[in-house]
Amino acid sequence: MHCQNCGKGVDEKAVACIGCGVAPRTGNKFCYNCGAPTEPIQIVCVKCGVDLRKSVAGGAASGKSKVVAGLLGIFLGSLGIHKFYLGYSKEGLIMLVICLVSVLPTLGLGPAAIGLIGFIEGIIYLTKSDEEFAQTYIQNRKGWF
Ligand SMILES: [Zn+2]
Ligand SMILES: [Zn+2]
Repeated sequence: MHCQNCGKGVDEKAVACIGCGVAPRTGNKFCYNCGAPTEPIQIVCVKCGVDLRKSVAGGAASGKSKVVAGLLGIFLGSLGIHKFYLGYSKEGLIMLVICLVSVLPTLGLGPAAIGLIGFIEGIIYLTKSDEEFAQTYIQNRKGWF
């Protein structure tokens, strides 16, 4: 990523920019993704198209919390609630339907298997950084895992 104050390339996990000393996400003069100069009032980068608002606080700015999504996956994964929470209605519906129709024929094994998928996805959400989570699931719309 790039420092939004001076445009210098900085590490994803850097707490401060080595070029200008500010926290890399505090400025609004450069695109964090491609380093192109931006106007403070711009909401997307005109060069690479990323949403500049999301970079300010990672996942939090998008309104979706990875912790909430992760916990929903772990506890209510078989119902696909974490999918609905992240706006993946299709995937959520698939999990919900499979869970409901498979309860009797599989004596509960179907929902347990779906629940396991949700559980694993919940763990994956929680192990990602806010930045990764926002990029993978909110910007790139990755539907599964
Ligand atoms: Zn800087
Ligand atoms: Zn850009």
